[in-house]
Amino acid sequence: MKILVINCGSSSIKYKIYEFPREKFIFKGVIEKIGEKDSPIANHRDGINELLFRLVNEKIILSLQEISAIGHRVVHGAEFFRKPHLIDDEVIAKIKECSDLAPLHNPANLAGIVACKEALPNTPQVAIFDTAFHHNIPEYAYLYAIPLKYYQEYCIRKYGFHGTSHQFVAHAAARRLKKPLNKLKIITCHLGNGCSIAAVNKGKSIDTSMGFTPLEGLIMGTRCGDIDPAAVFHIMEKNKLSVSQMDEILNRKSGLLAISGVSNDVRAITKEMANGNIRAKLAIDMYVYRIKKYIGAYLLILGGADAVCFTAGVGENNPWLIQRFKKDIRKIAPKTKVMVVPTDEELMIASLTHALINK
Ligand code: ADP
Repeated sequence: MKILVINCGSSSIKYKIYEFPREKFIFKGVIEKIGEKDSPIANHRDGINELLFRLVNEKIILSLQEISAIGHRVVHGAEFFRKPHLIDDEVIAKIKECSDLAPLHNPANLAGIVACKEALPNTPQVAIFDTAFHHNIPEYAYLYAIPLKYYQEYCIRKYGFHGTSHQFVAHAAARRLKKPLNKLKIITCHLGNGCSIAAVNKGKSIDTSMGFTPLEGLIMGTRCGDIDPAAVFHIMEKNKLSVSQMDEILNRKSGLLAISGVSNDVRAITKEMANGNIRAKLAIDMYVYRIKKYIGAYLLILGGADAVCFTAGVGENNPWLIQRFKKDIRKIAPKTKVMVVPTDEELMIASLTHALINK
């Protein structure tokens, strides 16, 4: 059977088709510039209709009836969604409720879901949440030490993201180690433009570096990661900045980009570093140091690890960087394997969708 995976962003829709149960990749594409000036694709409904038209027109499938199910990536499932869900009106209403926690992502995800339901009302649709894999994180790890009423009233807590990637990598690592996942302790490091680490005990995430939003934790392409909130207040006061201006600085103008002064892209920074640029070197040193701090912490909370896995754009393509971690991990945990494990979030979404509709 064919499973279509949809990942709707604010101005793009990425899609992939797989054949199951063989887990065979068939086709991928992207619809871009949704809602932009002069774009023929005015909204997500147009985008979904265009991609369905292309699939048939380009003879990827014979008819839309060939699509057995659609798996949708949904960024935030808050505390409602702890596993994949078959999408009905109740699920749609709940995803809408979660939009308050992910205003840039969930509305786009939802627009894709609604458009697919209109176009293919009889095809099962499944929502796969980025946050769901982290739902086992215990209370003592997900709460922030601020007055509890903020958790009770506004759901302020750590949620974690990149869940499908951490889940995929943990499963793939277990296959490579030839051991059941429920017997393993694994640290998964997703290093892309966004970066996060998860401590995975017996297949369950028990802590992760991203928090209430993806801003917490590691230094990323343009995000600062961990910072003293008092420093943020101070900068806002000195520069008379609004909340959204400060948000823009911490999310889009910080991280590797801010320190290197070159780029958010590790490729460009590495090149500059080789040319002797000291800020490029400092950016990489800070990036590596922060990752090491989290790996060290997770080695302790897991009580050692069978493997530390690196994945995503940076993790998969920079052997020199992985070598730096390998050397240091070996010193304190000589039995821990350090491996590069390519992620495939879409395949994970397709597998979870396939598993749910065949239950
Ligand atoms: P996203 O988080 O947007 O999905 P990716 O996982 O694609 O991002 O990672 C993007 C980053 O990966 C780029 O900014 C770049 O630093 C790094 N990267 C991608 N390809 C390579 C490569 N061939 N060599 C070195 N770095 C790479």
